[in-house]
Amino acid sequence: MTQTITVIRGDGIGPEIMDATLRVLDAMNVGLQYEFADAGLVALEKHGELLPASTLESIRTNRIALKSPLTTPVGEGFSSINVELRKRFDLYANVRPAKSFPNTKSRFPSGVDLVTVRENTEGAYIGEGQSLSEDGETAVLQQKVTRRGSERIVRYAFELARRTGRKKVTVVHKANILKSTSGLFLRTARTVAQEYPDIECNEMIVDNCCMQLVMKPEQFDIIVTTNLFGDIISDLCAGLVGGLGLAPGANIGTDAAIFEAVHGTAPDIAGQGKANPCALLLGAAQMLDHLAMPEQAERLRKAIITTLEEKDSLTPDLGGSGNTTSFADAIIRRL
Ligand code: NAD
Repeated sequence: MTQTITVIRGDGIGPEIMDATLRVLDAMNVGLQYEFADAGLVALEKHGELLPASTLESIRTNRIALKSPLTTPVGEGFSSINVELRKRFDLYANVRPAKSFPNTKSRFPSGVDLVTVRENTEGAYIGEGQSLSEDGETAVLQQKVTRRGSERIVRYAFELARRTGRKKVTVVHKANILKSTSGLFLRTARTVAQEYPDIECNEMIVDNCCMQLVMKPEQFDIIVTTNLFGDIISDLCAGLVGGLGLAPGANIGTDAAIFEAVHGTAPDIAGQGKANPCALLLGAAQMLDHLAMPEQAERLRKAIITTLEEKDSLTPDLGGSGNTTSFADAIIRRL
């Protein structure tokens, strides 16, 4: 059976890491077909818009997209393409695994294996109700949390735990201070948790959670939280295990899912063949999990880990003298 996915090669190092990733996927022979679509600066130059209708249509039809980082030009009139994609497809779950990998410059070269599930559409990032007083002295921001939004993200976290054999979900909140928003999230999470007696559930206030993550990250399995806290925590977790070159993310909705690297377009190294393709490759592994190919996802992760262990062909960010192509070739040899 073949599955067509939308492929967005992106800007900066995007095309380099995407070409490497597609070569690895081709070598795995997992039955994927690619429909290429433009977004970002490339799309602006070719089609006069950052997110052409044809790209949206491709994602809508295929329901799965693998996306490289995109440049949103700074300035009036351009809203973030990534935020726009989240809104268009109601991609409510941002799922970011953080796992220790060997031979990285990480503080935790072993022991960390957790997933942050961040609510992606509500909270402090609704983009409404922001104001600055005329004298510029007072700023106000509205947050919105709904029972429906909280319920579906917490349910996603528990279902993910069941599906992937994880044992514990930690609900992260600040309900002691943010009594309305975080309070509703926490109460809803408690109700949903009752439906999953097979999964341990604990609660943690966000400030304590940050300290615990730095001191004892091995205690976490799945973290579920609201938008702003999830944004910060997931980057903290990426930092625990070796940084941006190894951090993938998925944006999951009911009708579409987009898989990506967490890092940006890295303009400082674009076009030099130095980019580490691992983050996007790990995003592709999340995609294979989502496409009900967990054995293939594991096969890809294992090949990446062995290549890191053997320390050959690594890109300069990991202390190696290889390049994007040699790194991908080394992974292909170990599939
Ligand atoms: P960045 O992630 O692009 O780069 C930060 C640093 O990490 C740079 O030194 C870069 O060389 C390095 N780096 C990043 N990815 C790497 C990789 N795969 N291999 C080796 N080194 C890597 O962040 P930035 O410089 O703040 O942003 C650059 C551009 O990317 C901006 O235009 C921003 O809007 C965009 N961006 C896009 C996305 C996305 O589309 N998902 C996410 C973040 C930033």
